[in-house]
Amino acid sequence: MFTLITLPYSNEDLSPVISSQTLSFHHGKHLQTYVNNLNNLLKDSGFEDSTLEEIVKKSSGAIFNNAGQILNHNLYFLQFQKVKEDNKPEGKIAELINRDFKSFEDFKDEFSKKSAGLFGSGWVWLSLKADGTLEISQEQNAQNPITRGNIPLLTIDVWEHAYYLDYQNRRAEYIEKFWSIINWKEVEKRLA
Ligand code: MN
Repeated sequence: MFTLITLPYSNEDLSPVISSQTLSFHHGKHLQTYVNNLNNLLKDSGFEDSTLEEIVKKSSGAIFNNAGQILNHNLYFLQFQKVKEDNKPEGKIAELINRDFKSFEDFKDEFSKKSAGLFGSGWVWLSLKADGTLEISQEQNAQNPITRGNIPLLTIDVWEHAYYLDYQNRRAEYIEKFWSIINWKEVEKRLA
């Protein structure tokens, strides 16, 4: 049985980038529903003893959709911290970003453009490929680059439920503010 992750901050801590109202619905209602759905679907599925990552890699249909959304949201919610001025990566993750995208600004531009340009519901990911290079990818619905063998590092949820209460149709503004709450230490840990 899977359980709802506990957030490493309070519902008010990400304000004004993500309001407590959005967090309480997004984490407490949307993610909880995916957890409940998956637990119901797992009975007699053959995946009862699998990890979430294994299920995402091997399943399809409703099991994949719910497991994928749990994994995606866990990585999304656990990568945040309180708003920080001039927030940027340091250390190993900064080195890799500079190597593969020229600079943090260039990386941010490409990631932001792909996030604004994703049609419909989905996620944009920074992930580490098997060859050791970084990739930014647009993924529809519940997809995660882990299904291609990549290690997921950073993500933005561009389903409307992630930003509509705070930004309505202004997805670009949500993306712009998103950068100030990234916990880059947490993102760097995912490289290991
Ligand atoms: Mn979501």
